[in-house]
Amino acid sequence: MQNSKLYSLFKQFPTVVTDTRKVVPNSIFFALKGANFNGNRFAKSALENGCKYAIVDEKEFALNDSYLLVDDVLTALQDLAREHRRNLAIPILAITGTNGKTTTKELVNAVLSRKYKTFATQGNLNNHIGVPLTLLSMSEETNFGVVEMGANHPGEIKFLCEIAEPDFGIITNVGKAHLEGFGSFEGVKKTKKELYDYLQGKGKVFVNCENEHLMGMLNNQEIYSYGNTEEADSKAKFLQAAPYLVLELRSPKIGKLYIKTKLIGGYNFENALAAVTVGRYFDIKESDIKEALENYEPNNNRSQLKKTEKNVLFLDAYNANPTSMGVAVNNFADLPMKNKLVILGDMLELGEDSESEHQQLIELLQERSLDHVYLVGDIFSKVNKVDQFKTFLKAEEVSILLEKEAVSNHYILIKGSRGIQLEKLVEKL
Ligand code: ATP
Ligand code: MG
Repeated sequence: MQNSKLYSLFKQFPTVVTDTRKVVPNSIFFALKGANFNGNRFAKSALENGCKYAIVDEKEFALNDSYLLVDDVLTALQDLAREHRRNLAIPILAITGTNGKTTTKELVNAVLSRKYKTFATQGNLNNHIGVPLTLLSMSEETNFGVVEMGANHPGEIKFLCEIAEPDFGIITNVGKAHLEGFGSFEGVKKTKKELYDYLQGKGKVFVNCENEHLMGMLNNQEIYSYGNTEEADSKAKFLQAAPYLVLELRSPKIGKLYIKTKLIGGYNFENALAAVTVGRYFDIKESDIKEALENYEPNNNRSQLKKTEKNVLFLDAYNANPTSMGVAVNNFADLPMKNKLVILGDMLELGEDSESEHQQLIELLQERSLDHVYLVGDIFSKVNKVDQFKTFLKAEEVSILLEKEAVSNHYILIKGSRGIQLEKLVEKL
């Protein structure tokens, strides 16, 4: 009853708002609760600022007919999203994985939008609120949806699949991240596998067949594989990442085709190949795929190459976990340039493996002969026993040193968990 009323309101006013600072006229405000706020308290001001209806779950805030009282606002939002998605009846591709979800999503979306009217997750809205909001932003005109799904606890991907009901899926990779929530690497795999489980018998999986973990997680189900190997359904070759990634496609029709991306890091090869593969599967011309990938420029401090007046920065201050740190460090070590400086911040949320993972990373830096290294954060400061690596508790302290040193003509890798705020260093470099 509640839901059919809500659905009919949504059909009339199909814009959903959850933040009173971002009110849109004639929208519906969902009074969500967070750890430190109760959206019910903002419902009145949302209506005053132009929302048409407010969905609340505390009786005393439902003042008149402009309020719809439900048992739980979050559940109502999720149920509405599910119903809307069912009525849209369009293909949806879900993307999860430990690293590279957003990049893959952006690349896949760039490719698919050559042929379809797509709607893809905005930014990183990939959780139990973001996924419903993504679905609710799809309109009658949308004919392909691309949905990023994130997880830091078991069961989350299953839950998101039951809302988004995807027809296609990609797990980019599985690695060590959010170990606090997942318990172990096995826990990470089990949770991501929920996407494969959901699609079994219902849809198709695009899978990197060079990744043994992913291949081992598959059920007996329909796949379309990609990789730099003969047996892959969709093949491409990694050419270089020095620093920009270049890949080579080969096809009987057009021969060799080079894709020169604006992505840094060899690890982006699998993200780009996933997008190529989706494009091929949906019969998008390879020349269009090439153009889509070449035009894509990353933002938000994710694998960005930033040339300042003094230095060249490999800026990756958006997130970090042992897997993505490892590939970033190796990638940086492989670059042929001299004068390298590495600034790494703590990797957060690793639970009991935290210290040993930081220790291993220090060993990797030594093995790769990266000797000009600054480590930032409590954990690195605690475990670092290497004389040549300076440690700092906070980004601000490095900032002061960098100002003093006036580092110039360097290639500088900057990577750490978002909480360490290494992006603050950019202005000093
Ligand atoms: P989040 O969990 O924050 O949503 P995400 O999975 O969406 O992250 P991206 O935002 O695409 O990932 O990339 C974040 C960082 O992860 C990149 O800047 C890079 O350091 C690393 N990364 C990206 N792709 C890969 C990959 N295929 N393998 C390993 N690391 C990767
Ligand atoms: Mg993301």
